[in-house]
Amino acid sequence: MAKIEMKTPLVEMDGDEMTRVIWKMIKDKLICPYVDLKTEYYDLGLVKRNETNDQITIDSANATKKYGVAVKCATITPNAQRMTEYSLKEMWKSPNGTIRAILDGTVFRSPIIVKGINSLIPTWTKPITIARHAYGDVYKNSEMKVKDGSKAELIVTDKEGNETRQLIHEFKGSDGIIQGMHNINKSIASFARSCFNFALDTKQTIWFATKDTISKQYDHTFKDIFADIFETEYKSKFEAAGIEYFYTLIDDAVARVIRSEGGYIWACKNYDGDVMSDMVATAFGSLGMMTSVLVSPEGVYEYEAAHGTVTRHYYKHLKGEETSTNSVATIFAWTGALKKRGELDGTPALSEFAKKLEAATIKTIEDGVMTGDLYVLSTLENKRKVNTEQFLDAINERLKETI
Ligand code: NAP
Ligand code: MG
Repeated sequence: MAKIEMKTPLVEMDGDEMTRVIWKMIKDKLICPYVDLKTEYYDLGLVKRNETNDQITIDSANATKKYGVAVKCATITPNAQRMTEYSLKEMWKSPNGTIRAILDGTVFRSPIIVKGINSLIPTWTKPITIARHAYGDVYKNSEMKVKDGSKAELIVTDKEGNETRQLIHEFKGSDGIIQGMHNINKSIASFARSCFNFALDTKQTIWFATKDTISKQYDHTFKDIFADIFETEYKSKFEAAGIEYFYTLIDDAVARVIRSEGGYIWACKNYDGDVMSDMVATAFGSLGMMTSVLVSPEGVYEYEAAHGTVTRHYYKHLKGEETSTNSVATIFAWTGALKKRGELDGTPALSEFAKKLEAATIKTIEDGVMTGDLYVLSTLENKRKVNTEQFLDAINERLKETI
């Protein structure tokens, strides 16, 4: 059988620990036998990042800008314990943070839904995709403890040196706390464009919510920027695609989300996205079933699993013990990237292959063959727990039948 040709390479970002082990297995068993895989390979494993003073991360992000599509393995974000474990020269920053800053992108996280793994919210039968604005607000704040008797003010000095002052609070009778936050219109606009592009791309309606009734300058600016960009750049495209942009207050959005059946994108401000993505992920089950894609406002895509390097399983693997690590989110990172590459290059055979691999993966679980994380959740009667490698082999058996 002839392998499927690729025109343009994918940017391949390898990673760490258990996901690095799975990465190679997925390529060897599920992709390379069928696709004449072309990638530009960047090793973002911690050893290589340390060796190159993290230049490799920057290079991989620039390559993604050049080629348009990347697939990334989970990577270690170093902490104090990793400094000794890997004899690091420095506590290198999170690769995801570095890549996101270079691409100026928004992260979209969606659950993969299979029969037998039911959402904790019974009405949620379709995926809910969360888009989190990953810049500013409380994550780049300035805050202080304030003594009783103090007066706190906001002071802004413009280019000409003119000051504008506004009272925050006069502390009388008690100590207190204050906090200053910012965002920038350019980042909010990029966020809005990434969201609208992704909605068009996936043909899903998009919701956005803030607290603009209370925050008449700050949150209202988010609402206005979204509304302006939608009206001028996207309205007719949305109409043609049969999807909607829906704005409401954040508390109303939360109530509607719970009552909904899913099947839309929920764009969130930074803090809301942090909180709500954990809620949505938990309700849909395992971290091993959550995919993630970074979309830049120019339409550059980087696909990955939402989970980390699954360290606990890796240490077992190193000791020669059997593991049962879920590879679904990493497989879907590959299929997402291959589908997008096929779409951009006009090579439908590549996209078709990716869809078949997704279908074979879902069929495997729905046939009752699954890893331990899903085994404890599944309501199927004929379910069977398999190890990391057996799971991939079971997918391959089903994939072969469709090719
Ligand atoms: P994690 O790797 O996501 O794993 C946390 C736990 O969740 C695991 O111990 C496992 O639970 C379960 N789990 C996650 N993915 C699974 C899968 N595919 N199959 C089965 N079980 C799965 O998070 P972490 O332990 O907090 O972080 C480990 C490393 O990953 C850290 O160095 C962190 O910096 C990095 N990280 C990277 C990314 C990224 O690159 N995007 C994201 C998050 C974390 P049990 O042990 O109970 O089986
Ligand atoms: Mg969170």
